[in-house]
Amino acid sequence: MNSTIVQRTDAAKHAVAQACTVCRAVQREAGETARLTKDDRSPVSVADFASQAVIAHRLRESLGSVSLIAEEDADALRTALNAGDDVFPNRVLSAVHLVWPEATIDDVLDAIDLGNADPQADGLHGFWTLDPIDGTKGFLRGQQYAVSLAWIEGAEPVIGALGCPNLSMDQSEDLERPDPTGTIFLALAGDGAFVGPADDPTASFEMEKVLRLSRIADTPIRLCESVEKAHSSHEKHQAIVQHMGGTYDSARLDSQAKYAVVARAQADIYLRLPRPPKDPSKGRYVERIWDHAAGAIVASETGCAVTDLRGNPLDFSKGAGLEANFGLVVSDRTLHGQVLGAVQALGYDKEG
Ligand code: AMP
Ligand code: MG
Repeated sequence: MNSTIVQRTDAAKHAVAQACTVCRAVQREAGETARLTKDDRSPVSVADFASQAVIAHRLRESLGSVSLIAEEDADALRTALNAGDDVFPNRVLSAVHLVWPEATIDDVLDAIDLGNADPQADGLHGFWTLDPIDGTKGFLRGQQYAVSLAWIEGAEPVIGALGCPNLSMDQSEDLERPDPTGTIFLALAGDGAFVGPADDPTASFEMEKVLRLSRIADTPIRLCESVEKAHSSHEKHQAIVQHMGGTYDSARLDSQAKYAVVARAQADIYLRLPRPPKDPSKGRYVERIWDHAAGAIVASETGCAVTDLRGNPLDFSKGAGLEANFGLVVSDRTLHGQVLGAVQALGYDKEG
């Protein structure tokens, strides 16, 4: 394997392991996790900022430079500081100090803002994309969430590091119960997907290859989908499964942990059927690349099919949005044709 890829893969594993430690520590703190509300009214916590700072810093330390498109920026923290309010920024700094003890608040703000790159404009060959906490609502509820980092080349993720701090490595454990150790998935194009624990910030653990068991024909279809009804249509998911002759019974969980759950055959299908926009003049919601990149490569490297509702591969070459895609089907290969057939028969491949 080429040495740059090895270096990038090690850096991604280490960065995500450190961020998982930070997120777990913030979640363990007594009382309600401090949060702000973003312009789109979604919540952002101390851990979102701390995780992004730690990962951007670690990538830069390991690789020398970093070209990163990430979900957060430091504007809200700078605004608070300029208004003389340092309570929330100081909480972010304390969380960062767990794994980056010498950081100052300026170091943290600058590291977070490394996530504002525009690699397409810069004509770069590849770039990182990061969701420092995917499923912030799950994180705040104490349920599933993910730290999601991927290296993209052309239209595809080549490396994915997906930290799922509340997801057990033991598949017999209940998905609803936050696990004390958690799981990190690492995927490398053409090499497979690997798992290790999410509680060691030194990332010195060996990872084990995920050997996905094929689905047993004629067994009930196991679906997984978002907890948040606003993010996809549970009604359409139900109609698809029923059209396939299955009984609708779904595991609901936040974040790209859903990709991981299908990747290791704990569920057969992850569906994400877009809801029509509330205000049609604003157009449809376009999925963000950091909400899919790491999960998608983890699932495809274990042999799952990952496409949109029209059977097209996810196209990560269009900037921060999956502009060329509509909805999502992640599934066991033996079911993928049937899912797309049901989607088409029900007219769900069309907007509206
Ligand atoms: P999940 O945990 O799978 O429900 O997905 C969480 C992600 O959904 C968040 O990171 C948001 O970026 C994204 N999201 C926000 N609004 C929407 C929407 N209207 N449709 C689909 N996804 C959304
Ligand atoms: Mg997200």
